[in-house]
Amino acid sequence: MVERPVTKTDLPFVRGKYVENADLSALTWFRVGGPADVLFMPADEDDLAHFLKKTPQDIPVYPIGVGSNLLVRDGGVRGVVVRLGSPFRKIAVDGMRVIAGAAAIDAQVAKAAAKAGVAGLEFFRGVPGTIGGALAMNAGAYGGETKDILVEAVAYDRRGERRVLSNVDMKFSYRYCGAAKGLFFTSAIFEGRPDEPAAIEARMDEISARREATQPIRERTGGSTFANPDPAHSGGRKSWQLIEEIGGRGRVIGDAQVSERHCNFMINRGKATAADLEELIESLRKDVLTKTGVALRWEIRRIGERL
Ligand SMILES: Cc1cc2nc3c(=O)[nH]c(=O)nc-3n(C[C@H](O)[C@H](O)[C@H](O)COP(=O)(O)OP(=O)(O)OC[C@H]3O[C@@H](n4cnc5c(N)ncnc54)[C@H](O)[C@@H]3O)c2cc1C
Repeated sequence: MVERPVTKTDLPFVRGKYVENADLSALTWFRVGGPADVLFMPADEDDLAHFLKKTPQDIPVYPIGVGSNLLVRDGGVRGVVVRLGSPFRKIAVDGMRVIAGAAAIDAQVAKAAAKAGVAGLEFFRGVPGTIGGALAMNAGAYGGETKDILVEAVAYDRRGERRVLSNVDMKFSYRYCGAAKGLFFTSAIFEGRPDEPAAIEARMDEISARREATQPIRERTGGSTFANPDPAHSGGRKSWQLIEEIGGRGRVIGDAQVSERHCNFMINRGKATAADLEELIESLRKDVLTKTGVALRWEIRRIGERL
């Protein structure tokens, strides 16, 4: 891995856009973290493939979506962060299949499916990320998850080779995709089942209302911090219940706080650093382990260096 900051001069000529010293805090829900050496927004799939092929392999390259499950550390990210833009946001419906670019917002995909009378994608209404993030995280909500509806995903590996992955190839499990490491997803095909648009929309409205009532969705947050543990190990208790049990609700470190509304959500109250958030989350993990014996697993992804 390169030891010095990467600049545009280390990178191949592309048709897309490079931004040096790019502020990543503006691109994540938590609104914290240092800059990326370089942010790359490819013009299209060929441009991404060319970039991955020609960029020296010792330069780290990391894909992000809209940063709704991401904590960027305060020292920023050495290397290149790839963020897909509008060329990757297309959504098309063909019969019961929905084809979506990896930068398409999950809720928009859910809405397009509903309008075309394709049921089964309603849960995407409750996930504020992109399709790329949903593939990488096996995103899910209210009883549905990406693995239930995915037919295949298209991705490029770090050498720029195009790959088509079937549902089985993705090695999905709860909030996890075993195939995602080192892959850059560009699109996906989902399949639903027929239903009346009005009925699908009513279910989506219900999901919206439940989220609004239970999650701090207007705050600077990263969504669920910990994946729920295996019920066999936690006595059926979810992450938020374990945090509640140890008295973690509302805990504050620096300007980072455990949400009062949903204690598996962390909040940047305004001036939190990534270090505040990481320390707060680790303090919960430690206390939950000591007091209940349950080891919680981070669902939020962390990238970059500490200061
Ligand atoms: C208020 C709130 C509520 C939430 N509720 C839910 C919920 O109910 N269910 C749920 O599952 N999640 C939930 N989340 C978490 C989050 O929305 C999901 O994990 C989402 O799938 C992340 O997508 P993203 O585009 O924001 O990805 P990011 O946060 O930007 O990245 C997350 C991971 O995905 C990878 N990734 C992103 N794009 C690509 C790509 N194109 N190719 C390869 N890898 C990629 C990144 O490398 C990273 O490892 C919530 C978050 C918030 C803030």
